[in-house]
Amino acid sequence: MAKVVCVLYDDPIDGYPKSYARDGLPKIDRYPGGETLPSPKAIDFKPGTLLGSVSGELGLRKYLESNGHTFIVTSDKDGPNSTFEKELVDADVVISQPFWPAYLTAERIAKARKLKLALTAGVGSDHVDLQAASAHGITVAEVTYSNSISVSEHVVMMILGLVRNYIPSHEWVTKGGWNIADCAMRSYDIEGMHVGTVAAGRIGLAVLKRLKPFDMHLHYYDRYRLPEATEKELGLIWHPSVENMVRVCDVVTINAPLHPETENLFNDKLIANMKRGAYLVNTARGKICDRDAIVRALESGQLAGYAGDVWFPQPAPKNHPWRTMPHQGMTPHISGTSLSAQARYAAGTREILECFFEKRPIRDEYLIVDGGKLAGTGAHSYSAGDATRGSDTRAKLKHHA
Ligand code: NDP
Repeated sequence: MAKVVCVLYDDPIDGYPKSYARDGLPKIDRYPGGETLPSPKAIDFKPGTLLGSVSGELGLRKYLESNGHTFIVTSDKDGPNSTFEKELVDADVVISQPFWPAYLTAERIAKARKLKLALTAGVGSDHVDLQAASAHGITVAEVTYSNSISVSEHVVMMILGLVRNYIPSHEWVTKGGWNIADCAMRSYDIEGMHVGTVAAGRIGLAVLKRLKPFDMHLHYYDRYRLPEATEKELGLIWHPSVENMVRVCDVVTINAPLHPETENLFNDKLIANMKRGAYLVNTARGKICDRDAIVRALESGQLAGYAGDVWFPQPAPKNHPWRTMPHQGMTPHISGTSLSAQARYAAGTREILECFFEKRPIRDEYLIVDGGKLAGTGAHSYSAGDATRGSDTRAKLKHHA
């Protein structure tokens, strides 16, 4: 029988919800493009409930315990004395989430001698040292597509929020003001602007599709080009390099995974290549942007606004400069964990566990590392290497963060 260790974010500060704002979720039959939704044999949760926090347990306890497995759920993940690090030692399976990442560094992987499966309940497995996982024969899998559309909606919201100056205008209302000019002096329409996505995968393409009706000019940079029919239908302009694309864009949205090729991509040099007064939205991973270069660009006016929900490390320390820099519309890492997304990634996690325990193959599109190398989606979208470096700073900050 297996030991499954699951790291989830804390419950709401007022306790696990007893009721919800809405009574259910709309029914979605398929993902765009036809990929099927998660299809476990059964689920033991009500879609629309909070599954991603510790008391929600991804709806897995009944399934795992009735099959004789041990199931540990914790939010305590940082540092050598954390519950996660102690329980990891004899764990067969680790489940973690990008929102509250249980960083699986090479050191931790070396200690986890029984570990066979590192499962991401969501999308994006950069919190796992993929190189070390490959070397130790650990399978890394994630619930591809489960929250890609959720993120694309968040990106559109953030672009509109920044360009139209929504958050500062809202703040004038709550302060009791009626300061039209203060609100309007940084407010523009997105119509006619040039928007470009770094990567046109599931999220990037969904963002472009959603922005099309706003009559924006649509650009993308990706290592592989989209089918000609898609380019034509949306009127997309492909760029052979990110430098080339950012030069012509008023708005840039980052939708690539974090791996050695994308780490620190948006540094002083690339940002200097952007139009003065461009907006940057990053819901991909914090480390794709150089933290201090972003602050400098907002202070100098090179960037007119920055928004996103991804930071490094996570949770972000209280003194992280992105909390207080000017013209930002940051949120904690939430875009992929709406209640709608949770129902899908909890079901997908269950599907992957069923496959693992019943020795059936895990869907290719869910695989990041398998058989000692990048596999499935991982082979397509990631590059070999490790992007977890520096994650131990969370543990050092733990007591005053
Ligand atoms: P996909 O795998 O569908 O798309 C990723 C795309 O990135 C692929 O098209 C890939 O290109 C492209 N890509 C990879 N490396 C590069 C590079 N160096 N330059 C340009 N393009 C590159 O994933 P999703 O769209 O679903 O998700 C993308 C990322 O968004 C995730 O990896 C994750 O980090 C983040 N995410 C954030 C969430 C949140 O809550 N904020 C939730 C979900 C995801 P190709 O395959 O053509 O090589």
